[in-house]
Amino acid sequence: MEKKKIDWENLGFVYMQTDKRYVSNYKEGKWDEGALIGDANITMNECAGVLQYAQTVFEGMKAYTTEDGRIVTFRPDLNAARMADSAKRLEMPVFPEDRFVDAVVRTVKANAAYVPPYGSGATLYIRPYMFGINPVIGVKPADEYQFRVFTTPVGPYFKGGAKPITICVSDFDRAAPRGTGHIKAGLNYAMSLHAIVTAHANGFDENMYLDSETRTKVEETGGANFIFVTKDNRIVTPHSSTILPSITRRSIMYVAEHYLGLEVEERDVYLDEVKDFAECGLCGTAAVISPVGKVVDHGKEICFPSGMEKMGPVTQKLYDTLTGIQMGQIQAPEGWIKVIE
Ligand SMILES: *Cc1c(COP(=O)(O)O)cnc(C)c1O
Repeated sequence: MEKKKIDWENLGFVYMQTDKRYVSNYKEGKWDEGALIGDANITMNECAGVLQYAQTVFEGMKAYTTEDGRIVTFRPDLNAARMADSAKRLEMPVFPEDRFVDAVVRTVKANAAYVPPYGSGATLYIRPYMFGINPVIGVKPADEYQFRVFTTPVGPYFKGGAKPITICVSDFDRAAPRGTGHIKAGLNYAMSLHAIVTAHANGFDENMYLDSETRTKVEETGGANFIFVTKDNRIVTPHSSTILPSITRRSIMYVAEHYLGLEVEERDVYLDEVKDFAECGLCGTAAVISPVGKVVDHGKEICFPSGMEKMGPVTQKLYDTLTGIQMGQIQAPEGWIKVIE
């Protein structure tokens, strides 16, 4: 298959339309058989549930070209399961998990010409999502839904190496106790836009959100989970029912324990103890790990010993091991890599 002529190294994280997308419709209590289609536009009623009451959930994942030229995705079964959880919380029907994986595989295959070559640093970003599509004006769940998967090639997250970022402790909250912080829903992002625009205006790259109940514990950023490295090389990640269970973070914790022989802890992490950590990173599909060099808490600076020039040594090892697994250079745990072709 002939690859598209794209300047892979210089792609950003922006939408580029690709040839095919998968669509399945839910009507009268069941999903239709689904199909790959060419039209990238959606026509819906002005009163569609998603437009009025934000009934929509999504996933984010990537397809990579491995060293030996295969196209693979990473743990798509976990994205399928998480989307099922998200859908249930918003009273949406679940798109069957095996069909979710199949839809991802078919969409990537149909857009194989857009999967960046090995070594370019670029990847094919995959966006599965679903939303209420029939008219809803009285507040209630929609009766009809659409599930879709589209893909878009995205560039290397870090051009010229990962530079540590500076984040601030946000005055805004991301998620309420017993709310929707643990699901991947657009509504969590809509309300985070003001906080991130504010953080950027103040010169920070990201927000560190605290638990909204006590505002003493570290939760996550708008779209990535935290990992910390202690001075004696233990890996610590916040445990909370209001953070989104990142697949990257769960994979990193596994890699730390089983590949690197490090002790791992998932527990409450207090803002007060952040100053004692040696390294800090943000975990998510987009960047895998973004190193954090500095946390600013209302003028008070916490500077990690790993500094502002490069990733800390333990973070780097975690990053290299996980990306090595994803790119096929390191043997993956059973079931982590789904070969597409
Ligand atoms: C998607 C997301 C993450 C990262 O999850 P991955 O599965 O690692 O991509 C973290 N936090 C939030 C709020 C998210 O929406």
